[in-house]
Amino acid sequence: MSRKSSNKYRRFSFLSDWRGIKNTLGEMRGIGHPQQPKLSKDYAPAHPDPSLDERWFIKTITDKVENHPENSMEFPFAGERIFDQPPVGFVAGDDPIFVKFKEIIGPHHYTPAEIMAWHAKKNGVTPPPAGEISVVSFVLPITEKTRQENAGETEWCSERWAQTRLRGEIFSQALVREMVAFLMGKGILAVSPDVTPMFRKKRYPKVGWASPWSHRHIAYAAGLGTFGQNNLLITEKGCAHRVGSFIVHRKLNPNRQRPENIHAYCLQDQGIECLKCAKRCPAGAININGHDKETCYGRVAKSLRHCNKNYHIFIYGCGLCSVNVPCEARIPVKPERRP
Ligand code: SF4
Ligand code: SF4
Repeated sequence: MSRKSSNKYRRFSFLSDWRGIKNTLGEMRGIGHPQQPKLSKDYAPAHPDPSLDERWFIKTITDKVENHPENSMEFPFAGERIFDQPPVGFVAGDDPIFVKFKEIIGPHHYTPAEIMAWHAKKNGVTPPPAGEISVVSFVLPITEKTRQENAGETEWCSERWAQTRLRGEIFSQALVREMVAFLMGKGILAVSPDVTPMFRKKRYPKVGWASPWSHRHIAYAAGLGTFGQNNLLITEKGCAHRVGSFIVHRKLNPNRQRPENIHAYCLQDQGIECLKCAKRCPAGAININGHDKETCYGRVAKSLRHCNKNYHIFIYGCGLCSVNVPCEARIPVKPERRP
């Protein structure tokens, strides 16, 4: 493709970028998502198939990240992968942490049992008890190339980062939809909370902008990471990632140890001067007291114009505080104290 025709494609691409527009509306208004897959007529509440165990979930999600055609960038980075291999974890549906989340995050945050009850009713079956359901959580690490590119930016996110924000979310939703559709087709209740009408990101009294199902908090509950000063989840693959989760009527054993301290991996929290994330934030949304969500959202919302104008993508994004920091791609190592 000549440079001229490439630019022509890019100039008009945002007009037909209906997936970006739909995705943004879906996140903000809880609308425009596809129908939930139908439950098979062979619904079997006891679902004895032993092959659908923890290993099956980990392998299937990993294979999708490895081979799915949607896990790839578009022009001018066509062929590049969006995400690397994902850590996967499980939380029991009756884990007391979900009740705690109603205190920590707010009463609007759903428990897995509440979402599953809605889903079961919609499919005309009896809701399973909380102890019989599990949440599957996964972390999709952003590739080194994209992280490095964004690390070179100081004001707005880079083009690879913007594509990751848009296409990565589309891939993440496709991954979950395929998992849910497969399980529902097998007669096993499964649901992705953020494509139900119950999911609506909005400004809640006292809490500010929040979603009723926080994938990040679910990932913490699954032992996949802890929160940093930048409010991102620091995982074994760092804090530059997307996270996702879904609920399934299946007992899956938690496979990771969850630190009691929700900030355990952040250097600053361990008494080591860091705040590198705060220095990277062009909006001043991070300081010694933590992360100011409203200031951050204000800055991120403004990036829509930048991404549209420069990259011809209808998406907002930033992530500057997740790159060029000690927790970018790993759990940061505490420096040895000199004797
Ligand atoms: S950059 Fe430092 S202070 Fe900020 S989240 Fe990472 S470890 Fe914590
Ligand atoms: S996402 Fe951007 S605006 Fe928000 S805290 Fe991080 S660097 Fe600041």
